[in-house]
Amino acid sequence: MNSRELAINGGKPVRDSFLPYSRQIIDEEDQAAVIAVLKSDYLTTGPAVEAFEMNLSAASGNGFAAAVSNGTAALHCMVNAYNIGPGDEVIVPAITFAATANAVRYQGATPVFADIDSQTLLIDPASVERLVTSRTKAVIAVDFAGQPADYDSIRSAVPARVHMLADAAHSIGASLDGVEAGALADASTFSFHPVKPVAAGEGGAVVSQDSDVIASVKRFRNHGINLDQAARAKGNTWKYEMQELGFNYRMPDILCALASSQLKKLEARRAIREKLSYRYNRLLSGVPGITPLVVREGAISSHHLHVVKIDPDVFGVSRDEAFVALRAENIGVNVHYIPVPLHPYYRESGASGGPWPEAMTAYEQILTLPLWSGMTDDDVDDVVSALKKIAAV
Ligand SMILES: *Cc1c(COP(=O)(O)O)cnc(C)c1O
Repeated sequence: MNSRELAINGGKPVRDSFLPYSRQIIDEEDQAAVIAVLKSDYLTTGPAVEAFEMNLSAASGNGFAAAVSNGTAALHCMVNAYNIGPGDEVIVPAITFAATANAVRYQGATPVFADIDSQTLLIDPASVERLVTSRTKAVIAVDFAGQPADYDSIRSAVPARVHMLADAAHSIGASLDGVEAGALADASTFSFHPVKPVAAGEGGAVVSQDSDVIASVKRFRNHGINLDQAARAKGNTWKYEMQELGFNYRMPDILCALASSQLKKLEARRAIREKLSYRYNRLLSGVPGITPLVVREGAISSHHLHVVKIDPDVFGVSRDEAFVALRAENIGVNVHYIPVPLHPYYRESGASGGPWPEAMTAYEQILTLPLWSGMTDDDVDDVVSALKKIAAV
């Protein structure tokens, strides 16, 4: 077989084994933390939950934290905590994971999609400003790829009554001008899905400086009941009141213990991903038609994703063609994300806020290259070789 020939045409792939775009790393300390909970009295609603919440509020520069079952539930709890409901509008970026907008819909409110900045893929404050109405209750910015959004500019673009919220699913461990991601908005959410910087299998959290917001989340995650099991046991009472219609969005102790253990390695692993990202940027600067996202001055990214834009006229191959060819070379590329207003659910229900010229142009060009803390320099070099191989044909 000819190694110069593309793998999609029957050539030898650049790699023998598949390199995923992301994956978790679980070490022995993580395993021991989970086993300790399995041997303890509480599998859920126990001390590992509270311990994780303490660790997380410290790590994210917040006074208060509430762990919930996943990042989507965290968004739902946060939207509910700000009394957002039917008739209200919430501005969200057009490019994000669908969950950011879905949480608004769960409460019967309307997501209004703002355009994004083409260099960073972060929500564009000028677009937010154009979309504000008397019904706007909140903006949920997304720290895309791990870089905090431009919170100061967004706050200046909206009236003071509009809540500034953050979907920080990508950015735990990041910061902006010395302030931790998760402490930049009135309240912020995290996800602990295995591809995110802190992996727990499933899990999420809301963090805030406002104790009332976190008290609301703790009620909403537990059916709307005012006291959880642990608090009842401490108070020596069986009485409880269901005060609103909540959900079962609890995160079990097993997963909280894993998340606490993962949290200890947050900065070390962020630094590894940063080095790998810089290596991509250095090696790809010589490949015409490939541009990395800009990380702006003052921002420290968590480097959750390494997204590049492919200009088909210069690179010689479109993003769609590159995607298929790279997968055949055993490079696990991905696309983050399909603009949310393009999904049939939103298209058919008349997504508001458009048009989104920057989001639509970016969507044609974005490609996520593999990036996770267990990768080596050689893995990065394989991805770069594969990109050069494809461009050379
Ligand atoms: C992962 C993610 C979510 C949802 O988190 P889950 O834990 O998978 O529910 C929400 N928003 C963004 C931007 C995400 O990347």
